[in-house]
Amino acid sequence: MTAQAVRPPRAAIADLRAYDGAVPPSDLVLAANESPFTLPEPLLEQLQSGVRDFAYRRYPDPLATTLREKLAAQSGVAPENVLVGNGGDELLLDLLLAWGGPGRGLLIFPPTFSMYALYARLLETRVTELPRDPETFAIDIGGAARLLSGGDVDLCFVDTPNNPSGALTAGEALVRLLQASDALIIVDEAYFEFSGVTAAPLLERFDNLAILRTFSKAYSLAGLRLGYLLACPEVIATLTRVRMPYSVNAFSQWVGELVTGQRAAFEPALETLRGERERLYQELDALEGVRVWPSRANYLLFRVTGAHALWQRLLDEDGVLLRDFSASPGTPDCLRVTVGAPEQNTRFLQALRDKLIPRDKTTPGVLLSPAPEAKDDTYE
Ligand code: PMP
Repeated sequence: MTAQAVRPPRAAIADLRAYDGAVPPSDLVLAANESPFTLPEPLLEQLQSGVRDFAYRRYPDPLATTLREKLAAQSGVAPENVLVGNGGDELLLDLLLAWGGPGRGLLIFPPTFSMYALYARLLETRVTELPRDPETFAIDIGGAARLLSGGDVDLCFVDTPNNPSGALTAGEALVRLLQASDALIIVDEAYFEFSGVTAAPLLERFDNLAILRTFSKAYSLAGLRLGYLLACPEVIATLTRVRMPYSVNAFSQWVGELVTGQRAAFEPALETLRGERERLYQELDALEGVRVWPSRANYLLFRVTGAHALWQRLLDEDGVLLRDFSASPGTPDCLRVTVGAPEQNTRFLQALRDKLIPRDKTTPGVLLSPAPEAKDDTYE
């Protein structure tokens, strides 16, 4: 017994679960859509020579001015159109702090990135879900436009490519969402460097558009936590009022500065990953009993009978960790594999094929029993 109990926290957070970042021990993590490659060698050398004299003792620049200017130049916008955050995650929270909250509404299109709903619940924001097409993962744009024009939606997240399916939402579909109301539409382009498709040209026409990007995927910097938002100056200025002043540490800002504008140095790795995505798609597609969706990101979603048991066996027997979406709404029996380096993908495919070979050599598909219950634990 302690001398004094503690009173309960806010009721709104009673049902929230802590994000368990612990990755089960595995040799090959293909679960978080990280890059399998480290930074290009010339950048590593620049980093090494700057580490010693770095101004560790100084507080960071709150608005990451230098990085902001570089990102603006790279994106063809003004610095006032850019906000840097501690990963895209922080910017998602800032967006909900400013446009969400009690009495306000968020529209999302599940299956989608789970942090949208999680932050919304944390901030007591009403969440409207319009599920994607279960076959194609396309958004029902007509239905979405109707919901938006009802006027009760304050903000709306569209991840394109969609996580976890890899499906794109682009062009006229986005324009229809943007035109439907003055709700803030956040186009989450976390995987933009893999898709090559961006809504950035629409920024000139729509003040209710914000575009989210990250250094975590194509730029191999998930560990340093850097993301940025492109939007009109009013949206950016509003977010600067709610954000934590020193959230983006000085070291990350500096590495971000080195990397920004060096896209060409990352291109060989991106080219490899795009090619590997195609190879993985073809090889998964050729497997009996496996359904795989085309993806414009650095991951592929596939469906297979007994998915959760397969996920467990890949981990236990082969040390290969995938993301298990089998218990998540909209993705029954689905797993997501991050595109790795060529030898990693080969290893994953081999492990998968081994498990799909029927034991009696007559019936195709997965032979897995008993199938333990999967838990809905979707974060990345
Ligand atoms: N959006 C989407 C769709 C994502 O998949 C992720 C990362 N999994 C993020 C945003 C956030 O990325 P980060 O916080 O690493 O920048």
